[in-house]
Amino acid sequence: MDIGIDLGTANTLLYARGQGIVLNEPSVVAVQEGSRHALAVGAEAKETIGRTPGSITAIRPLRDGVISDYEAAEEMIRHFVRKAVPGRRRPRTRMVVCVPSGVTPVERRAIVHASISAGARAVHLIEEPMAAAIGAGLPVSSARGSMVVDIGGGTEVAVISLGGIVTAQSLRVGGDRFDAAITDHVRKRHSLLVGERTAEDVKVAIGSAWPVPGGEEFERRTFTVRGREKVSGLPRTVELTVPEVREALDEPVEAVIAAVRVTLEECPPELSGDVMEHGIVLTGGGALLPGLDLRLASATGIPVFVADAPLDCVALGSGRCVEDFDGLQRVLGKAERAR
Ligand code: ADP
Ligand code: MG
Repeated sequence: MDIGIDLGTANTLLYARGQGIVLNEPSVVAVQEGSRHALAVGAEAKETIGRTPGSITAIRPLRDGVISDYEAAEEMIRHFVRKAVPGRRRPRTRMVVCVPSGVTPVERRAIVHASISAGARAVHLIEEPMAAAIGAGLPVSSARGSMVVDIGGGTEVAVISLGGIVTAQSLRVGGDRFDAAITDHVRKRHSLLVGERTAEDVKVAIGSAWPVPGGEEFERRTFTVRGREKVSGLPRTVELTVPEVREALDEPVEAVIAAVRVTLEECPPELSGDVMEHGIVLTGGGALLPGLDLRLASATGIPVFVADAPLDCVALGSGRCVEDFDGLQRVLGKAERAR
């Protein structure tokens, strides 16, 4: 059984050869304090964030696009592979694992180790923007320059040509920072403390990066958050509006735009010409933020497209590799093997 893994900071997806995406769960592990034993992994563990009794901690093994807890990451990979591929023996499993383009050699080894301990005989690492571009249907092997901006927990911007990444930026600003910006705003403007899950709910319900054409109804929406009053410590609710949330998101959104500009500047002129002509493709959950495409298009003067099913692009790209190891050999790194 060959498997592709999108090891995301927010969500982990598994693609099984011949089957498609077989698992899609939050990248969260709940552990008992003191022991490293995982009590729950994935959707079940995410439910516990911000609600755990003192002795249980909900860990996100990856944050802002990098691995922040190796042990938990390993536990999570093992758990998901077992869940998606039941049965005690997983002979000859090959895995294609997507990693952020900025990972260090130490992080690469940690991911390979975790995959092997989860049952892989051979592991190929592929950089996330490459997988995202393949999953979005971009012609990565051709001589034409393609730009992909993958906004998950963090952000990856890359220009790809002839099966390789020509220039890339890895940014610790993405969905997680969008949430943090909302938390900050609510604390400063309304003196209310809210958790990161609440902030994410606000973002998904009424977040935007630019007024959406024809979105008058959307502009009038509000979202009521419940939190704890900063001074009194008592529970209180506050009604947030679309324009104020957009303003709260301004800084991290500008940071993403700045990274796109830098990547364009660093890229050889022929390739940036291709990008100007064919546009920029957005993938990852952040691509769903209303108006982000329009704002980026207006800031760069380049057409911007949101990929179909942006949350699935990286997993589908790793899946394409799993279905066609030989055809995509050039984009896949050399295999690391279990000893
Ligand atoms: P990762 O690859 O890091 O796991 P994903 O590509 O799965 O990340 O995207 C997850 C991020 O996308 C989260 O920050 C989540 O809040 C955000 N997200 C999901 N849906 C939406 C939406 N409709 N609007 C804005 N952000 C969204
Ligand atoms: Mg991702």
